[in-house]
Amino acid sequence: MTDSIISLENVRREFTAGDTSVVALDGFSLDIRAGEMVAIIGSSGSGKSTLLNILGCLDRPTSGTYRVAGKDASKLDADALAALRREHFGFIFQRYHLLGDLSAAANVEIPAVYAGVNARERRIRANALLERLGVGARGGHRPNQLSGGQQQRVSIARALINGAEVILADEPTGALDRRSGEEVLKILKELHREGRTIIIVTHDADVAARAERIIELRDGRIVSDRRTETTAAAGPVAPAARTTTWDSRPGWSGALRRLREASRMALVAMAAHRLRAFLTMLGIIIGIAAVSSVVALGNASQRKVLSDISSLGTNTIEVFPGKDFGDARAAKIKTLVLGDARALARQSFIAGVTPTVSTSTTVRYRGNESNVLVNGVGESYFLVKGAKLAMGRLFDADAVRNIERQAVIDDNTRKTFFADDQTSGIGRVIWLGKVPCRIVGVIAQQQGGFGSNQNLSVYLPYTTVQAQFTGDRALRSILLRISDEISTNLAQDAVTTLLTQRHNTRDFVILNTDDIRRTITSTTQTLAFLVAAIAVISLVVGGIGVMNIMLVSVSERISEIGVRMAVGARRSDILQQFLVEAMLISSIGGIAGILIAVLLGTAVNIAVPDFQISYSPLSIGAAFLTSTGIGVTFGFFPARRAAFLDPVVALSRD
Ligand code: ADP
Ligand code: MG
Repeated sequence: MTDSIISLENVRREFTAGDTSVVALDGFSLDIRAGEMVAIIGSSGSGKSTLLNILGCLDRPTSGTYRVAGKDASKLDADALAALRREHFGFIFQRYHLLGDLSAAANVEIPAVYAGVNARERRIRANALLERLGVGARGGHRPNQLSGGQQQRVSIARALINGAEVILADEPTGALDRRSGEEVLKILKELHREGRTIIIVTHDADVAARAERIIELRDGRIVSDRRTETTAAAGPVAPAARTTTWDSRPGWSGALRRLREASRMALVAMAAHRLRAFLTMLGIIIGIAAVSSVVALGNASQRKVLSDISSLGTNTIEVFPGKDFGDARAAKIKTLVLGDARALARQSFIAGVTPTVSTSTTVRYRGNESNVLVNGVGESYFLVKGAKLAMGRLFDADAVRNIERQAVIDDNTRKTFFADDQTSGIGRVIWLGKVPCRIVGVIAQQQGGFGSNQNLSVYLPYTTVQAQFTGDRALRSILLRISDEISTNLAQDAVTTLLTQRHNTRDFVILNTDDIRRTITSTTQTLAFLVAAIAVISLVVGGIGVMNIMLVSVSERISEIGVRMAVGARRSDILQQFLVEAMLISSIGGIAGILIAVLLGTAVNIAVPDFQISYSPLSIGAAFLTSTGIGVTFGFFPARRAAFLDPVVALSRD
């Protein structure tokens, strides 16, 4: 038959569950011409719904061929079948299958959304259809605010919005009272008069009597196919002209439009389940806030440590006696002597030499007494160590040469003895053991450097300390400042060679500020890496949370997915909808996490002015991308699951 819009040939449909199989359609042929109004009747389980699902391209026959407008449906891929459902078929279900989160008008618009009709035209068409079906005033209502008859009119409007030529109705009056059922039938009849093909599944003989052709099924076979007398004369009617202006822009703008629609749907779903969306976000919020804070904190502490080290002075090396660093016998090793310092001072690559000696004794001033570390140093020691003078002056080279009893005290000593003294001790005489010394200066306290611990320290010329306290020529260390043009490592090698020659053995260790800086930098980097790893783990946990909730959400919304597929959503539309939802949830969570981290950082900066946390645009951007990436990664599996649901199985879920 050439004018058949629907043509089944020897179609069988078997369902296999385990090792039993049910034959729902037992191999029959059927032709339906464009413009016919057909009723399919039969008792429950006779195969009516199965037949309708195959006709609507929601299901495929196990064997046999099904041609829609001459095209073999088995040769069409999933997207082409979706397009058929979207643009040529209109489904009406017994229980309406409206989406509860959307208004009546929005429900009507769904097939047009997937068809790519622009928003303005969609709204106009939906309102016109609702008006025509007598529910024009109800467009803004939710399905649960409408009566059954009203919901079924809304679902008819949905079936018509893309100008369907074939209306497939599965027990459309089954859930309605007599009067509402009658009205729905009147509408279907009217659509038939417009030239549309109407196929109604029903078990009600009265309903069937309205059709011009009645096909009866029993156990998956056609047992009768007759025309009612009243309408037998009606000839085939031309299909309704579709007056549509498709907005199916290809390429980028089309993809963008679909993305916008998917985002809108995702936002509606999130708004309908706010608590769930928030709880899902929480994992991401905590994860991103933790990562951002930890990275910023790590950067800030590294910066701080490095600035503390730079107060140690640059380009200096210090030579200590002893075989190893921390040698317990170092104090007893007396091999490092003034002669070494003089020999080093003659080297061209050495810009300054300061021998140091030290001893501890008691300091007394006006009846107060305390333990003190007496450091004997050269005049350039303070410069090399990066010490800052707070008050008074430092002693000079003459004072060192003349073994003068001039003392520079640290801030701890000042606080201990001269807290209430206007002069801060400058010019006062203190007793170091039995030696009176005049205070000439006070050096400032420095983080991680001078006076950072609670011990009292006093600095005298090393000559004075040797003459008055230690008595011998052995040194605690030799502090060397290297000429700027010489690399520290090269200088260190030269010093090693020279001292090894003088001592005939290597009985000293060299401490290099560059080494210290490197060690501390690598330590803080290791630490930062460790903490970042923990933070990444927390992000993965957050991502798995997203996946979990998305999976729950997919299984909760299986019937919604079925409806969307029945009205023409492509797999990619469903995939996109859920993927965008996961992405939105995690990127909104990411933004919230970043905000929390910035707030925390600002609070820390205000509370601890000394410690400045800052967030670079780079790290904020990275955090945002990470959160979005988590959404895509962990949302993909649930979204794919949704997209590959079988529409018939999804629809039958309630
Ligand atoms: P009707 O709509 O006429 O009541 P159906 O087409 O729903 O009948 O079902 C026809 C037969 O196929 C029934 O025996 C039913 O149990 C079986 N059937 C329908 N769908 C499935 C399915 N998804 N899996 C297994 N059996 C099914
Ligand atoms: Mg049925």
